[in-house]
Amino acid sequence: MRVTHYQRVLLKLSGEVFGGGQVGVDPDVVQKIARDVAEVARSGVQVAVVTGGGNFFRGAELQQRGMDRVRADYMGMLGIVMNCLALQDFLEKMDVETRVQTAITMGQVAEPYIPRRAIRHMEKGRVVIFGAGMGMPFFSTDTVAVQRALESKCEVVLVAKSGVDGVYSADPKKDPSATKYDDLTYDEAIGKGLAIMDQTAFTLCSENRMPMIVFGLDTEGNVLRAVQGEKIGTLVHP
Ligand code: UDP
Repeated sequence: MRVTHYQRVLLKLSGEVFGGGQVGVDPDVVQKIARDVAEVARSGVQVAVVTGGGNFFRGAELQQRGMDRVRADYMGMLGIVMNCLALQDFLEKMDVETRVQTAITMGQVAEPYIPRRAIRHMEKGRVVIFGAGMGMPFFSTDTVAVQRALESKCEVVLVAKSGVDGVYSADPKKDPSATKYDDLTYDEAIGKGLAIMDQTAFTLCSENRMPMIVFGLDTEGNVLRAVQGEKIGTLVHP
């Protein structure tokens, strides 16, 4: 057992989780994620979520195919918002109160990003879903997850992955000799060039002593297990 039972957590869900490996949103998959998030919220733990958007667009990929990077990144950020709305929908159907806050103002669909209000929502038991990344091109939602966790005073960043259950010495899908780490430091993760989060996110966590747990989302109930300090996935720490 890892001893810590967290009270306020930030969950990072990458875009590919929402698409179930496809472009767009797979409602069955989102429902399953919502069930996991709802379970944590009902346990009394305060939850914020940052979603990615790679199931729609990644700016760098569109740039390689001839688009202007800045415009492509804004497309990426708009894709992220669709994931937020899908997650919000399934959570609300499960009677979990939610608020979506976006870094790009879009009053008809979400609140603007107001950190102190986000904290207040969480204190009232609402799940806060942060969308549209940082609102700025050239960033990734990994970095946003850490920034939002720090600003809203979360105790840990939970990085839920699809198809992999922690941090490995190499990509386990490509290298069968890859071994999983139970825990490792940020210096080790950066030094070994482990690509589970981008380097800016690792550095931000490291400098601000924010722990991170990387675990698999494929087993139902894993988010709650991570929150309750069960030894799943990989703990990355300062
Ligand atoms: N993005 C951005 N600024 C941000 C966050 C995201 O420009 O603060 C854009 C960027 O183009 C990125 C895309 O949104 O590729 C989707 O985000 P990300 O790649 O982090 O999603 P994930 O890999 O987690 O699905």
